[in-house]
Amino acid sequence: MFEKILIANRGEIALRVIRACQEMGIKSVAVHSTADADAMHVRMADESVCIGPAPSSESYLSKAAIISACEITGAQAVHPGYGFLSENAAFAQALQDHDITFIGPTAEHIRIMGDKITAKETVKALGIPVVPGSDGGVPDYEAAIDVAEKIGFPVIIKATAGGGGRGMKVAKNAEELEIAFRTARAESKVAFGNDEVYIEKYLQTPRHIEIQVFGDGKGKAVHLGERDCSLQRRHQKVFEEAPGPVITPALRAKIGKVCADAVANINYIGAGTIEFLYENGEFFFIEMNTRLQVEHPVTEAIFGVDLVREQIRVAAGMPMSFGQDDLEINGHAIEVRINAEKLPNFAPCPGKVRMFHAPGGYGVRMDSALYSGYSIPPYYDSLIGKLIVHGRDRPEALARLRRALGELIIDGIDTSVPLFDMLLAEPDIQNGEYNIHWLEKWLAARFG
Ligand code: ADP
Repeated sequence: MFEKILIANRGEIALRVIRACQEMGIKSVAVHSTADADAMHVRMADESVCIGPAPSSESYLSKAAIISACEITGAQAVHPGYGFLSENAAFAQALQDHDITFIGPTAEHIRIMGDKITAKETVKALGIPVVPGSDGGVPDYEAAIDVAEKIGFPVIIKATAGGGGRGMKVAKNAEELEIAFRTARAESKVAFGNDEVYIEKYLQTPRHIEIQVFGDGKGKAVHLGERDCSLQRRHQKVFEEAPGPVITPALRAKIGKVCADAVANINYIGAGTIEFLYENGEFFFIEMNTRLQVEHPVTEAIFGVDLVREQIRVAAGMPMSFGQDDLEINGHAIEVRINAEKLPNFAPCPGKVRMFHAPGGYGVRMDSALYSGYSIPPYYDSLIGKLIVHGRDRPEALARLRRALGELIIDGIDTSVPLFDMLLAEPDIQNGEYNIHWLEKWLAARFG
């Protein structure tokens, strides 16, 4: 087992990994920018290294600075968390070249899944159902119209290198397609440095259902059921639950097995998430994330496993501590993402947190790097915490979430907490009746 792990991240996810290290008797190294000298992850780790100035391009995204920090501290492995360098194949490769273990999949698997076209081709060949669309990239408008006519409007144009809900455009007809195609390419070029786009059938009322998989890198893999992450704003998840309100045990077993077999087949190592759109009983692959997800705690809650501990174990060459038969669902879990944002426009709202009080009690988990007196820097993602509740069933989890939100105090800044108080009062949320468009429609009706 590793003696020391460096965490190439900040915020709640850095704490999440430090906590796993502490429980495993592994020393932790935090890295931070100058803007994060007072951050909680720096205080909690055994050691810390300042790796650069505030902009993440010069600190949390600097491969050279992070590798130097490993060398200075003698860290044998790096956990990338999510975001930043977590899906950067060159980073995984550079670590390997320096004899440092990347706690995640191989550089090759990251590369394949990071390009949405090769990802789709790869999983299709492994038996995973995909959204109908173009075979590969679409070079020009003529090719785009050909594909659209074949699969039927509406269609969605997506950036091959896309991510974070960006680089997507919907077109309902040929005229819209012309504009959408051009803007999608131009925007992809600016955002991702790559203007390749592809086309998919635009599904009208799907749910976003993702399957958690885990492999040992030696041909063994399991699935840990699904998460329903359909409540989204601008293609970004805000509320996630497991199990999915509309997924039956038979459906779960079937799609779960397809996914587990697929990743076993490629000797995938560590945690991964295969994302689908789900409509009328059918699953359609959209992408695979080769890392730990923000919403992993809902899966941990219902299966009683520590996914980060497991990632560290397999990265160290140890066998997985559970097999498919050991994995049984217990109850229901919900996560809400708490952002430093002001409603109704969700404008980022960094600043000084005068007082922070985390809710507690049975079935409540608060993953946050806040503390009273902390100043949230304006440079990074607005996620400041995740509140996760676990109950015997969905109604109990909802009641617990309402109770826990009532206990939570974040004073001094605006947050997205009032949104969840409002959502919990909605019959559709109480009944689990929502799809990927529900939240945008609700926001438009309420706030215009
Ligand atoms: P990203 O990598 O940017 O997160 P995804 O491919 O995972 O992009 O898609 C993000 C979200 O966009 C999905 O959860 C869904 O809400 C919407 N979306 C993506 N593809 C389609 C599609 N073919 N039809 C309808 N909605 C889609």
